[in-house]
Amino acid sequence: MINFLDLKAINNQYQQELKDACVRVIDSGWYIMGNELTQFETEFAAYCGTKHAIGVANGLDALILTLRAWKELGKLQAGDEVIVQANTYIASVLAITENDLVPVLVEPNPATYNLDPTTVAAAITAKTKAILPVHLYGQLSPMPEIMAIAKKHNLLVLEDCAQAHGAEINGQRAGNWGNAASFSFYPGKNLGALGDAGAITTNDDELARTLKALRNYGSHKKYENLYQGVNSRLDEIQAAMLRVKLPYLEAETIRRQKISQAYRSGITNPLVTLPHVIDELAHVWHLFVVRCEQREALQAYLAEQGVQTLIHYPVAPHKQQAYSQWNNISLPVTEEIHQQVLSLPLDPTMSEEAVAQVIAAVNGFNA
Ligand SMILES: *Cc1c(COP(=O)(O)O)cnc(C)c1O
Repeated sequence: MINFLDLKAINNQYQQELKDACVRVIDSGWYIMGNELTQFETEFAAYCGTKHAIGVANGLDALILTLRAWKELGKLQAGDEVIVQANTYIASVLAITENDLVPVLVEPNPATYNLDPTTVAAAITAKTKAILPVHLYGQLSPMPEIMAIAKKHNLLVLEDCAQAHGAEINGQRAGNWGNAASFSFYPGKNLGALGDAGAITTNDDELARTLKALRNYGSHKKYENLYQGVNSRLDEIQAAMLRVKLPYLEAETIRRQKISQAYRSGITNPLVTLPHVIDELAHVWHLFVVRCEQREALQAYLAEQGVQTLIHYPVAPHKQQAYSQWNNISLPVTEEIHQQVLSLPLDPTMSEEAVAQVIAAVNGFNA
C-alpha cells in the first residue's frame, strides 16, 4: 500500500535530532515562552524574509488573532467584509466569522483554485476592509495583482499560508506579501510540528506587539492586561521540534517539486486533469490535486491498486451545517471543484518506485 503521507517516515529522518531537542527542553526546566520560541520566531521570520514571526498555538488561532489584532488597533470593526475564496478549508472562514466580520465568498480561478483578481475586484463594496488569499494546495496566489487591488482600495491583506511554506514569486516568499500572514505547523503541513503549532508573520511592528499581547491573555507585561486576550502560545517543545525541521524544509520542498514534476510528465490519462502551475517556484506542493469527473470511481480504482488518496475537501464551507444560512447560495465553480478533486500521495520520503506505481495506477484507470 502506498500511503498518502507517512508522518513517521518523515520525522524518522530527523529522529536523533528531534530526541536531542526534546531532552534539551526537558532539561532546561522552562516549557512555555522561553528561548526555543524566541529562537524559532527569529529563524522562521528569516526564512520568510519578514521582520517578525509570532508563534501561536495553531494555524486557526494565527488567523483569528490577526483579525482580532486589527480590530483592537481600530483597523477593522464588526460587520466589515473580508473577501476569501469559497473553496478554501473552513478554517479561513471560521476566523472571519469568529471576529464578527462578514466573509464574502468568491469563486476561485478554476485552474489554480486560488483567488482570481477579477472576481476579487468585482466583489469590493464600501464595507470591504480586507482580502484573505489562501495559497491553496501550496501554490502562491497571484500576490502582485492582489496587492495592487488592495492598495487601490486601501484594504488589509491577510495571507493564509498554512499550505504554502516557502512558496515564492520573484524571490518574495509566502508570508511576506500581505500586511500579515498566518501559518500552521500541524503535523501534516510542509513544516510540521509533533503536535499543534502556528505563527503569524508581518513587517508591522505595532501588529507584532499587539499579537504578542493577545496570545498571552492580552498582556504585554506580567499582570498588566491591555486586551481581553486568549491563551494561544507555541510550546517550547514544539518550537524545538520546528527548529530541528526548519533547516530541512528547503530540501523537502525540492523533493516535493520533483515528485510533482514526475506526476505531471508521467500522468497522461485524458480522464484526469493535472494541476495548473503558474511558476515552478510559486508552488511547494503541499498537495497534488487532480480533477476527474468520475472521482469516486478513480479513488476506488486507485485503492484497489494499493494507492491511498484523500479528498481536499469533500464539502465547501458554504455547504456545511455550521453555515446553514449559506447552504442555498450558488457557487457553481466551487461546488464542481469539491465534486471532482482528488489528492494523490505526496510525501518527500516516497521512493521512485512508489512514484512510478502511482503514475501507472492513474494511467490504468478507465471509466
Ligand atoms: C491547516 C489549515 C489551517 C488551520 O491550521 P491548524 O493549525 O490546523 O489550525 C488554516 N487554513 C488552511 C488553508 C489550512 O490548510
